[in-house]
Amino acid sequence: MKKALIFGICGQDAAYMSQLLLDKGYEVHGVGRSVTHERMWRLDDLGITDKINISSGDITDASYLVQLFSDLQPDECYNFAAISFIGQSWKTAETTLNVNTTGVLHILEAIKTVSKHTRMYQAGSSEMFGRPDTKIQDESTLCNPCNPYGVSKLAAYNLLNIYRDAYGIFAANAYCYNHESPLRGMEYVTRKITDGVARISLGKQKELRLGNIEASRDWGHAKDYVQAMWAMLQQDKPDDYVLATGETHSIKDLLTIAFAHAGVDNWEQYVVEDERFYRPLEPHTLCGNSAKAKEKLQWEPATSFETLVQEMVDADMKRLKG
Ligand code: GDP
Repeated sequence: MKKALIFGICGQDAAYMSQLLLDKGYEVHGVGRSVTHERMWRLDDLGITDKINISSGDITDASYLVQLFSDLQPDECYNFAAISFIGQSWKTAETTLNVNTTGVLHILEAIKTVSKHTRMYQAGSSEMFGRPDTKIQDESTLCNPCNPYGVSKLAAYNLLNIYRDAYGIFAANAYCYNHESPLRGMEYVTRKITDGVARISLGKQKELRLGNIEASRDWGHAKDYVQAMWAMLQQDKPDDYVLATGETHSIKDLLTIAFAHAGVDNWEQYVVEDERFYRPLEPHTLCGNSAKAKEKLQWEPATSFETLVQEMVDADMKRLKG
């Protein structure tokens, strides 16, 4: 039985990854910064909380990690632990670098020192590209991050590369474009919208306050993305992959689909512009080319944007109706 260690166990990707690994017969160990029962709602939703060995721990604590890897000797390690909300990364830039970069360095050091056979997946991001000089990005695109989050993920990626080359560690990085699901946190615009739309249609909320609705993203389904992440660790060699749908949609597209699915006409009357939700800088419209993942991992995202949004609206409706 293979053993997997997942950092950031309370998050969206960790939940879907745990489910995938359990289905494949792995022994799954999950670590979260401060795991409480409330923070395990995603694992509860998937009905897998009791099947995972969950503990509290912090990737900014180097000696803790050495002990953990030394004891566990995992075959695979998936690092989803991060300050991952960009709005937050502007407010706590130092913590963002500490967790997202130094934390990764600590994981690499622990692997190098006490568990060299462990294969590591690092959750990199399209935000590493930031404001690139191409409309469509692939693994050869020059990175030009434009927020603390993007900088922290790029620095972690650089460290990964160095450790891979210098010490022969199997560490793979994904440039993940936005991936969403009913398990997405409420702070992200997709979930904020699907939750808001569900509330409005049920008469529980009157308006939806948003920032820049001209923004667009390459949005996919998290459940599809974890399959590629797993496949990355099954290759002969560690490598980097763009994981994206290759389609961008605006927040206006999202609003149109979400409101229509909930049976609410004229969405414009419910959306209120709110300065608080604007970002100091926005990335360019990012759109990923995942041809390499398709060729090497035989991976393609299965869920369309429309299906994703509709699934999220349906889930929020169901939850709110109790
Ligand atoms: P991100 O790509 O990781 O920043 O994902 P988000 O879902 O947080 O934001 C996606 C885009 O939606 C960004 O360009 C935001 O500026 C924009 N946006 C507009 N209004 C909002 C809002 O109310 N909340 C969030 N989170 N984003 C918003």
